[in-house]
Amino acid sequence: LGGSISRAIQQMSNATIIDEKVLNECLNEITRALLQSDVQFKLVRDMQTNIKKIVNLDDLAAGHNKRRIIQQAIFNELCKMLDPGKPSFTPKKGKTSVVMFVGLQGSGKTTTCTKYAYYHQKKGWKPALVCADTFRAGAFDQLKQNATKAKIPFYGSYMESDPVKIAVEGVERFKKENCDLIIVDTSGRHKQEAALFEEMRQVSEATKPDLVIFVMDSSIGQAAFDQAQAFKQSVAVGAVIVTKMDGHAKGGGALSAVAATKSPVIFIGTGEHMDEFEVFDVKPFVSRLLGMGDLSGFMDKIHEVVPMDQQPELLQKLSEGTFTLRIMYEQFQNILKMGPIGQVFSMLPGFSSELMPKGREKESQAKIKRYMTMMDSMTNEGKQISNPKLMNESRMMRIARGSGRHIREVMEMMEEYKRLAKLWSKMKGLKIPKKGEMSAL
Ligand code: GDP
Ligand code: MG
Repeated sequence: LGGSISRAIQQMSNATIIDEKVLNECLNEITRALLQSDVQFKLVRDMQTNIKKIVNLDDLAAGHNKRRIIQQAIFNELCKMLDPGKPSFTPKKGKTSVVMFVGLQGSGKTTTCTKYAYYHQKKGWKPALVCADTFRAGAFDQLKQNATKAKIPFYGSYMESDPVKIAVEGVERFKKENCDLIIVDTSGRHKQEAALFEEMRQVSEATKPDLVIFVMDSSIGQAAFDQAQAFKQSVAVGAVIVTKMDGHAKGGGALSAVAATKSPVIFIGTGEHMDEFEVFDVKPFVSRLLGMGDLSGFMDKIHEVVPMDQQPELLQKLSEGTFTLRIMYEQFQNILKMGPIGQVFSMLPGFSSELMPKGREKESQAKIKRYMTMMDSMTNEGKQISNPKLMNESRMMRIARGSGRHIREVMEMMEEYKRLAKLWSKMKGLKIPKKGEMSAL
């Protein structure tokens, strides 16, 4: 995919006369590529029309950076298509919210319910899970197992066959227990059918959710639009979660789901485990859709801002994929100085949004400084750690004592370390392009 887009743009850069015909050819190539990424035909066509309006042929003819102009226009247009214009309802900690999950069977609802609960629990919420799937045998067991593993209270029944009754009982119980995030998992059955949508309507009417989340498997392809629309027509879908983004699918169906529900994507699922769950970030997602790979912008940035003499070392570390606490320490130092490597590092997909959310840079800096104080009290040997399992409790206790911090904070730092190490490891074996060798898109 990336290849064909690159080729299209390459052709364009080589053409001596840039005219409408060339632009059209280029757009047609990209259209084919996006269709392969499961973006709906109608959406691709809309994008094409908009690009033609945006890209000024005279600018292109003027010569410099044709590639950049078109690339940027397409990128921006796709980002815009993922933005429905209004944020979804966001539950507030300490205030009771009911969140209902809908989606076809197998889309990942039950797994995602737990991930969503766990994500909030880690941030100090009191979530609870209600199993209103009475259709599939074993549904309650699955939720119960997940919930038990994450130590999250749950409600369900092996006997009761009425999903509405269970949903209402569960929500009532957890409201009494002052849970602030009551999550209702529902049935999906095996295909889109009237009975399923009627059941969703009834559960929703009875539990009055503050937010309905549509869960979509990233690999459903062109079916995404109709599926999302069908759910939207029976319940007030307000947000989308795309699952199985760890697979091969590029997830172009997400654009359809946003268009059909007029709701934003809020998270993506990236694996079967509880913590394989990420806040949705538009830019890396669009990069992936276009086959740019999550890291091409990152590589560009390295060449742009890291001094030449520092590039080989950083790239070497990246391609080895080993992320020690010492590397984290050095990167933190860079971030605080906002030195060149810090700037680059903060561009890692998933890095900036989690560790340094926009508008909260001050807080984040304080947190990073705290982490660094803790690392300061580590022995050099400790800083070489690249296997978090070696960081046992007694070691963490020593660090906590040495830096005058609570062990909980040391554990938090180690969580952060694990997350970053995972990002870092994605770059293992990365073929390092030389300057000027960067692919077109
Ligand atoms: P439900 O029928 O909608 O409740 O779907 P489940 O939660 O039972 O998930 C169906 C299957 O998809 C299970 O085997 C899950 O482990 C798997 N699954 C869910 N989310 C993800 C994900 O993000 N990545 C991967 N690889 N598998 C997932
Ligand atoms: Mg389920």
